[in-house]
Amino acid sequence: MKQIIRKAFKFRLNPNSDQAQKMVEFAGANRFVWNKALAMNLFRLEQKQPLLWYNELSFWLKLWKSSEDYGFLKTVHSQPLQQALKNLEKAFKDGFDKKQPLKRIPKFKKKGLSDSFRYPQGFKLEQESSKVFLPKIGWVKYRNSRQVIGDVKNMTISRKGSYWYVSIQTEYETELKRHSSTSMIGVDMGITRFATLSDGSYVEPLNSFRKLSKKLAFEQRKLSKKVRFSANWKKQKQIITRLHERIANARLDFLHKTSTEISKNHAMVVVENLKIGNMSKSAKGSVEKHGKNVKAKSGLNKSILDQGWGMFVSFLEYKQACSGGDVLKVNPQYTSQTCPRCQHVSHDNRKSQSAFECTECGFKANADLVGALNVLERGHRLLACGVETLVSSKKQEPVDSSNTNLLLTA
Ligand SMILES: [Zn+2]
Repeated sequence: MKQIIRKAFKFRLNPNSDQAQKMVEFAGANRFVWNKALAMNLFRLEQKQPLLWYNELSFWLKLWKSSEDYGFLKTVHSQPLQQALKNLEKAFKDGFDKKQPLKRIPKFKKKGLSDSFRYPQGFKLEQESSKVFLPKIGWVKYRNSRQVIGDVKNMTISRKGSYWYVSIQTEYETELKRHSSTSMIGVDMGITRFATLSDGSYVEPLNSFRKLSKKLAFEQRKLSKKVRFSANWKKQKQIITRLHERIANARLDFLHKTSTEISKNHAMVVVENLKIGNMSKSAKGSVEKHGKNVKAKSGLNKSILDQGWGMFVSFLEYKQACSGGDVLKVNPQYTSQTCPRCQHVSHDNRKSQSAFECTECGFKANADLVGALNVLERGHRLLACGVETLVSSKKQEPVDSSNTNLLLTA
């Protein structure tokens, strides 16, 4: 049996000023076409006339484009505008669909609130060089944070605040399979060890990456001393570009190998639900407020980002989906402070970065292994009850509040 999996990948774009200007124009034209077609249809509704659907509306679009007043529409790629009309048609159909009682008749788009447009085709994606091709805008760089999997079906460009984003919709087919193994494993992700498994094995972090990072900093200092755009400067720039590529490749390679190994051996993989984006934000945002802590925290966050835990989890999910296995995400609270034997929760259980010793029952183990055992235990509980229960404690680990969507029982 086959199944089709649909996924969306969203990245921040880094357009140059020319491209950003075009995006503003495209979004503006998109909003104009939507609002104009919507106004026509609302008027027809009032007059009890039948609605105009996509075919009629696209005829109107052609008229607007050739008119003097709305000639600015000609500078915009036609597909996003047609897409706006298709979206409007769908919005009307949903609005009148009795099976979708929550849907309402479409609304007017406001400037700054719904700046977006979609390409149904004509785009290109180059992941190695982190850029997308948008018809009539050109190649735009994006912040590549994860691998895009599957065939790209469409791309939506949208604005939030002063930033532009691309949302890439993909589709891929996988065999519905039964995983060859039946085992379940907990994974603790850390700094000194990249991953510790609840069976006691562990994966060392990618040390070559640190070395390459140092080398990169060194080469960048060299670049800053050269005359901009001179022959030597260009040569140095090349060296840096190649280093960037080497680092990205080394990281991808490491994450692929590690996730493949774990996925091959275990049907069910339990990981901590770490909100990577939030973690790095919280350290950046509060540097002035709390001096020392934040320094340590941003060090931690740098390592998290270096090691690509988010990417690692998304690789795991993809590989498990392909092999008929699964990934469970559990609440990361207290995983490093809870005793796996007697469930006693205390900060004092943690003797050092690597040593765990329960103050109640004396259970001793490597702290990362304790984390992995607790993660596995939570996975079992999640499967058994559907809800994760946690022993509440006044002691709080510094955990992002968006993770605490699970039930706490006293
Ligand atoms: Zn204990």
